[in-house]
Amino acid sequence: MSTPRDLRVIVIGAGMAGILSVIRLREIGLPDLTVYEKADRLGGTWRENRYPGVACDVPSHLYSYTFAPNPEWTHRFSPGPEIQEYLETVATEYDVERDVRYGEEVTELSWMEGRWHLRTASGIIDEADVVIAATGVLHHPSYPVIDGLDDFAGITMHTARWDDGLSLAGRRVGIIGTGSSAIQTLPTIVDEVASVSLFQRTAQWVMPADNPAYTEDEKAAFRDDPGLLHTLHEEISELFSNGFSNAVVDADSEGMRMIEAACLANLEDSVADPELRERLRPDYRAGCKRLVISPTFYDGIQHPNAELVTEDIERIEPGGVRTADGRLHELDVLVLATGFRVDRFLRPIEVIGVDGLTLDEAWAKRPNAYLSISTPGFPNLFMLNGPNGPVGNFSLIEVAEVQFNYISQLMDLLRDGRAGSVCVTGSATEEFEEERTIQAGNTVWATGCNSWYLDDRGVPMAWPWNFQEYRDRLARPDLALDLLAD
Ligand code: NAP
Repeated sequence: MSTPRDLRVIVIGAGMAGILSVIRLREIGLPDLTVYEKADRLGGTWRENRYPGVACDVPSHLYSYTFAPNPEWTHRFSPGPEIQEYLETVATEYDVERDVRYGEEVTELSWMEGRWHLRTASGIIDEADVVIAATGVLHHPSYPVIDGLDDFAGITMHTARWDDGLSLAGRRVGIIGTGSSAIQTLPTIVDEVASVSLFQRTAQWVMPADNPAYTEDEKAAFRDDPGLLHTLHEEISELFSNGFSNAVVDADSEGMRMIEAACLANLEDSVADPELRERLRPDYRAGCKRLVISPTFYDGIQHPNAELVTEDIERIEPGGVRTADGRLHELDVLVLATGFRVDRFLRPIEVIGVDGLTLDEAWAKRPNAYLSISTPGFPNLFMLNGPNGPVGNFSLIEVAEVQFNYISQLMDLLRDGRAGSVCVTGSATEEFEEERTIQAGNTVWATGCNSWYLDDRGVPMAWPWNFQEYRDRLARPDLALDLLAD
């Protein structure tokens, strides 16, 4: 037993999960907190991803905090700037920013004498009983290794580092990649550019989805009756999270067959030219890569300004991209829609846990965490959307809320003196990881494709059971079996 105490909490990151943490920490009576945010503005992924067409492919009324439903969403799938505005509005409403220190990049976290000691790049030193890492998953851009990339004489931009001041009107644009970022960018710019060449290494299955606007009458009804928004949230959650999540974790499920049929019909019905259709046809199962949802991609790629390039890229030259057939695709702007380094999590922060163990050492093979929240050797350090969590086409807001509820119960142990520190045990982590790895083999993500879901062994880095199971497992920490509370 320890002494009951008030806790001081440090949150790293002021994105969706950091904002959630501030609001919920105050609500549960832990107002002694500071958020360190390296940028000068909140919003995380929505602050950083500002490429044309950026949008969320989770329905807006699901991609909302449960405590802050939003009657003003304009579309079923809202554009990125609207989500950024939503996050800012919620933050203002809850006065979140009074606890945020912007422009402060955390460089070091050390566990010493039962507390976390923090240092920032500017030299700030702070300490706390608990650290919540709300540092995001898709955060560090992945740059491709292609000969000559630095020689390009035009403008090169990663989609997550978009230059807001740049006009693409009349320019010859190349896009490398066919993930969600590329597939949202292309149809958005195709009308204004002189040309857009999409360099496809691997074809994508594309799930069709209508994106209707909410009418003024619908929005007025949502404003008048918050119960309607709640019902809508529950309905979409049931349909989207449960329906989809049941399908992807069982490669042989009926739900997966329906998704595959919808993607196949979309390709067959939407692409007129048989030769183009074949070049757009993937040779792996739909859903194996993270499913791309787009109502506009096939129209975009068939636009007279667009060209699908399926020859391998040989190198980049000052004038453009040279493909293996010897052709030079002359370009003014090269967009790298090449995704993210998904193994980073809170790194490059140097995290030093019990007995000098560093997170780099603990994760030398690969990042790992029990229920995606806690890692052995790092007590009172809790991650939101940490390694191997539910990352499929879920609402990561919903995931983070479930995780926060779990973390708040761990913090109760510290507050009421049942423990001085809380951490998952090594054996529970190993058992969990073994069970998770076996189950991951049944998912559609393991059916034979390359994707950012796969770790160095080819095992999906994801929660391999359905979302209800995640909710159930996180409803209450199993202290006897899983957690070391000293
Ligand atoms: P991504 O899905 O990882 O796609 C990266 C693309 O770049 C792939 O097509 C990949 O080809 C290609 N690529 C990488 N290196 C290459 C190289 N050297 N030469 C040629 N091609 C190369 O990245 P993303 O589109 O940014 O999406 C990442 C994730 O962000 C998504 O899966 C999703 O979770 C999230 N996201 C979500 C939304 C949304 O609407 N909610 C929007 C954007 C992004 P291969 O396939 O051959 O590897």
